[in-house]
This record gives sequence, structure tokens and C-alpha cells, in this order.
Amino acid sequence: KAYTATEIKKIVEEENVQFLRLMFTDINGMLKNVEVPVDQIDKVLNHKVMFDGSSIDGFVRIEESDMILIPDLSTFLIFPWGSEHGKVARLICDVFTTDGEPFMGDPRNNLRRIISEMEAAGFTEFDIGPEPEFFLFKLDANNKPTLDLNDDGSYFDFAPLDLGENCRRDIVLELEKMGFEVEASHHEVAPGQHEIDFKYSDAVEAADNIQTFKLVVRSVARKHGLHATFMPKPLEAIAGSGMHINMSLGTANGNAFYDEKTDDKLSPTAKHFLAGLMTHARALTAINNPTVNSYKRLVPGFEAPVYVAWSGHNRSPLIRVPQARGLSTRLELRSVDPSANPYLAIGSILAAGLDGLKNELEAPEPVDRNIYGMTSEERHEAHISDLPSTLHNALKTLAKDDVIKASLGPHLYQSFMDSKRMEWESYRQTVSDWEREQYLSL
Ligand code: GLU
Ligand code: MG
Ligand code: MG
Repeated sequence: KAYTATEIKKIVEEENVQFLRLMFTDINGMLKNVEVPVDQIDKVLNHKVMFDGSSIDGFVRIEESDMILIPDLSTFLIFPWGSEHGKVARLICDVFTTDGEPFMGDPRNNLRRIISEMEAAGFTEFDIGPEPEFFLFKLDANNKPTLDLNDDGSYFDFAPLDLGENCRRDIVLELEKMGFEVEASHHEVAPGQHEIDFKYSDAVEAADNIQTFKLVVRSVARKHGLHATFMPKPLEAIAGSGMHINMSLGTANGNAFYDEKTDDKLSPTAKHFLAGLMTHARALTAINNPTVNSYKRLVPGFEAPVYVAWSGHNRSPLIRVPQARGLSTRLELRSVDPSANPYLAIGSILAAGLDGLKNELEAPEPVDRNIYGMTSEERHEAHISDLPSTLHNALKTLAKDDVIKASLGPHLYQSFMDSKRMEWESYRQTVSDWEREQYLSL
């Protein structure tokens, strides 16, 4: 909603808001906030709130560590849960340098940069409908998360099997109080696993929503004595958590992916965009699946993608084109997991698609058979490549893909690589229980 500064001051006063939370996201997708008491509101609205950027991951700039928080007034909202000290409102902020330039280490600014490239290519919006999945684990007597799942439900099960149902319903209610339109919420395949889908919105708002969503899920789960995790694969041998991304491009004339004149009702725009996603799929993995653990999810057998292919029927491939047409014509990218930084992920996905459009890349034929039943020779013949199998391989692929590198910009690319290479090195030096079980008898 488009608020003016005066309107916000009025609401803050009428609703007795006591604290303002100024939120932004670091390179690892962690939500950061600077909380100020309400008497500082003029400072906030006049762009006078500063913070030390060198204390935030990926923001480090030795020469100039002071950063300014510029609130995006359209993101103003009051959290439905009050505290004993009064109500808290949030404003999502863009990070600027003291010279008044957007700081290019800020993932939200970076997403806006790619959106302006999209606008230059003639589109008005990039609509995103995310499908985040998460697990609910029980807390122990010291309020520490355990690995005990809180139910033995499965896909679309009802209570009493699904003890997480009440918790999930509360999450949905809180989200709706905050103005989210929840399209669907259901138990997922694995015990203790849930999914909440919200209505599509424009890219920046969708990324903001994902960040707020995680905050709400975690805090409501706590109230139910549960720990919510967005870790991609918390338990081996059962499904992991994805965050499928549904997407379409819009122009003044509506959904640019729909074309009633073609056989499959997909426009050439949709096909080129799809081809861009396929071409850059392997490098995109580094950004969409940015943790060591992400790659434990991208294995056969759990409805997570492993191969680069698309289909209109089959659910197993990387990209699915749901049957819906008209306004709902969209592509669904199934590799993304909820550990991804949504601003970086959505920005890079858009850049990949725009590259497909710019170079009029041709989409390969859809693969409507079960890829998991094919031999590696059959896959090779059908030009189906594998997604990277580790974070290390994904980073190497990213380093070779100029389009996806450019989608991060030099600053974010460098900090992302530095931080992820460190993560991989640290993992590489651990010795796991699996190894001891396998090798201790040697
Ligand atoms: N949990 C599956 C994944 O890891 C997705 C299940 C589905 O919603 O199709 O992506
Ligand atoms: Mg799902
Ligand atoms: Mg899905």
C-alpha cells in the first residue's frame, strides 16, 4: 500500500505503536533489524538512521562502513502480536551509502536493478508465487529444538493425525492479519512437514513477504512449543523442504507468458524465458541452493529435482509448466529451497530468463517421461544434464556463467563467493558419523 510519511505518523499515533523495526537482509538471507523507539520516527522518515555496515555479513566496506536505512513506506505494517511494551511496526528498508547512492551490497537494491533491466526490455512486472515448505520439531525441556517430529501425518492429512494443524492454522491467521493472501496451506509428504503458499505478487514484494513469512512461522511455532526450520534437508531418508517459485512476466496487456494462438498456449516470450532458465540452471543452483545441506535435498526419490529438464505433465523435472492458462500461465522452478536469499534468487532467476529473451534462446523439447527411470546414456541422448551435486560444484559453475555472475553485480558476487567458499572449506574439514561407521574398522 502506498503510504505517505504523514499517514504513517498518524497511524503510529492512533494505534499506539511503541517501536519501529527497520528491516533489511544480509547476503546470506538473514533478516536484520534496527529497532528504534517511536519518538525517533522523524529521524526514520527523514533518512537519518545510520548503522555500521561492517558488522553485517557481505556488507563490509572498510573504507566506508556507515550506511543509511531508507524505509520503503509501502512496506509499513504493524505486527499483530503486541508485547507488554506496546505495538511494534515494521518498515523494510533499502540500504544507501552516505553519498546517497543505493548500496550495491544490499540484495534488495540488487533485485531492483534487475527489475529495471526487465522494464527496459518492455515488461511491467515479474510476478512471483512462492511455495515454501518447512518442518516443525518439538522443543525439549530447555526449549532447545529436538529432532522429534511433532506428528506422523502425510500429504493433505487431517487432524488428529496432524498435530501441526493448529500451529499452521495460527500461522495462517497471523499472516492474514498482516495482509497476506494465503492461497493454500497443507501438510506435506513428510511427517512434521508443512507448506503455506501465498498469492503471487511483484518480485520485490514477494521477496519481502518470504522474509516476513519466515519470521512469523518461527515465532508462532515457538508459541506452540515447536521449532520451525527452513533447513532444506533436516532428516535423511524423508523428503526435504523446497520453495518452488512460480513466475510470470507481465506487460500492460496482461500475462506475457500466455498466447491463445499457439498449440500449447505458451507465448514465444514464455519459451525463451524458459530456455534462459534451462541454459543457466546449473549456475543458478549456487544461489537457489546456497548451503552445504541444500545438496542433500537434490537427490532422486523425494520429489526434488536432480536433472535439468522441463515438462507440462510430470512433476519430477526442474521446471514444470502447470496446466493453468490465461492469467495463471506460469513456469514453476522446483529447485529453489528455503535457505536461499529470496532477493538474490528472484533477481538471478529473472536475469536468466531475460537472457533467454534477449538472445532468443530455444527451449529444448519437454521431457514427459520419468527421468529417474532413464539410464545415464538415455539422459545423455536426450541432452538432459545434471544439477550440480555439491555446493562446491555449484560455485564452480557459477564462476563460469557471466550472466548469473552479472546478476549479482561485482560486490555481491565477491562477498557471496568468499562466504560460500569458506562454508565449503569448513564443511570439507569435518568428519561425519557416516565416515566413522564406514571406515573406523579399516
Ligand atoms: N518436498 C519436495 C521438495 O523437496 C516438493 C514436494 C512438492 O510440493 O511437490 O521439493
Ligand atoms: Mg510442496
Ligand atoms: Mg509446487
